[in-house]
Amino acid sequence: MYGAVIHAPGDVRYEERPEPTIIEPTDAVIRVVAACVCGSDLWRYRGIAPVPKPTPIGHEYCGVVEAVGDAVTTVKPGDFVVGGFNPCDNTCAACRKGATANCLNAAHYEGCQAERLRVPLADGTLIATPEMPADDLIPSILALSDVMCTGWHAAVSAGVGPGKSVAVVGDGAVGLCAVLAAVQLGAPVVIAMSRHEARQKVATAFGATHIVAERDEAGIEAIKALTDGMGADCVLECVGTEDARLQASGAVRVGGNIGLVGVPHGDLPVEQFFWKNIGIKGGPANCRAYLPHLLELVLSRTINPGIVFDLELPLSEIAEAYAAMDERRAIKSLVRPNA
Ligand SMILES: [Zn+2]
Repeated sequence: MYGAVIHAPGDVRYEERPEPTIIEPTDAVIRVVAACVCGSDLWRYRGIAPVPKPTPIGHEYCGVVEAVGDAVTTVKPGDFVVGGFNPCDNTCAACRKGATANCLNAAHYEGCQAERLRVPLADGTLIATPEMPADDLIPSILALSDVMCTGWHAAVSAGVGPGKSVAVVGDGAVGLCAVLAAVQLGAPVVIAMSRHEARQKVATAFGATHIVAERDEAGIEAIKALTDGMGADCVLECVGTEDARLQASGAVRVGGNIGLVGVPHGDLPVEQFFWKNIGIKGGPANCRAYLPHLLELVLSRTINPGIVFDLELPLSEIAEAYAAMDERRAIKSLVRPNA
């Protein structure tokens, strides 16, 4: 079968890879219907994170189960499934507390930008749709594999809810999904920080009440002007850079909360957090804990996170899928295995 392999920064290739098979009795093998490129894949593509050797890449997918191991009971061949990027058993002590991202038996996988995929801990990780979903729902279901769960996690981590003002730092797919999450969780004021018209439009479609195009001090002042001069109750940091965390700590009110979901690179401004009494919480999303609710919202067409995909290509054009995101010609690239 064919899939994407990253060889070096800027060098992702479509090449033949070994056919995945059932190794553990808890595994499933799925035929990938759609996969996508993540902002976090770009850390390696841009040479910020190392690529020590050619590595299959991609961790977001949805598809149809082809085979399951003997111990798998909740999904069966023919089921349409989606799973989070962080496989979990959904039964251990951590998972029972909802901390599925930190499952005590966590497995790791990569290489989902491929025709087929072995999913470990299939019972815990995968969730099946009641029936084969309509084709136009595929992008929104795929978004649940990472970006929508991650945006949701930012909002939950920051305590977003009715009566709260929210500012979102980052206008990538996760930031936009964080806007959608904040709106769904009942926040009456949701401010998206974005300078890009296409991304502003998605934020508005997701229910953002305000757009702030300014950055740095001007951005902080614009957010304060919308929040009684205080700053937002909740700031969702969806980038991961030091600059983004400084932007977040400037935009949050005293005693407010920051939800942190951008994979951190660089320092954390702990002193600023301390003197402003800022709460900070976040990390990788508890996908499995959020999936049942979010899948229901997608299947009932209450939310449509799939509009973050503004480029769709055949899997064989994976190199262009990366280049378009790297050059910010696309918000997020969806790939479908070649027919
Ligand atoms: Zn677990």
